Amino acid sequence: MRLVLLGPPGAGKGTQAAILSEKLGIPHISTGDLFRANIGEGTPLGVEAKSYIDAGKLVPTDVTARMVESRLAEDDAKDGFLLDGFPRTVEQADILEELLAKAGEKLDGVVNFQVSEDVVVERMLARGRADDNEETIRTRLGVYRDETAPLIDHYGDQIIAIAAEGSVEDINARTMEALGK
Ligand code: ADP
Repeated sequence: MRLVLLGPPGAGKGTQAAILSEKLGIPHISTGDLFRANIGEGTPLGVEAKSYIDAGKLVPTDVTARMVESRLAEDDAKDGFLLDGFPRTVEQADILEELLAKAGEKLDGVVNFQVSEDVVVERMLARGRADDNEETIRTRLGVYRDETAPLIDHYGDQIIAIAAEGSVEDINARTMEALGK
């Protein structure tokens, strides 16, 4: 299955993706994780991305899209993937569609994890990642509202809505059921 995971920062996408990846046997491709790995290794891509990430802003689309394109070209992503953190804008969604179309592929669905803003702020403050301070969180939620939330309308009836408050196990069970698995 080729799936995109959507939801506000702190929605628990990464946690759910790790479980889904195992159960569905497809790789979890997280742009945030890819950026953090590049930052950790000090690659040119990591150096460029770091200032944007630390400020809670989006990394420029050309940089991000190139990174995603090369990751999707790897062998393990041939038959399916869980894309987490990309697309984050309608522009990126169009790029993804083109990338897939070139390979004669398309998405099977877009899973939207729905969580209230209070819960996401609580979760982000609890995990304490470097970019999880209050100001950055506010910026990221603003970016989400302005740039990412419009993807829900953009994807229309491809959206598979999941109520993403509750235990990790319950949310996973709801997702598997919604995917017909
Ligand atoms: P969260 O789910 O909490 O937002 P991520 O790990 O997905 O965290 O992303 C962390 C940061 O990485 C974002 O705030 C942004 O700066 C950058 N980033 C991730 N994906 C993208 C993307 N598709 N386009 C631009 N920037 C991105």
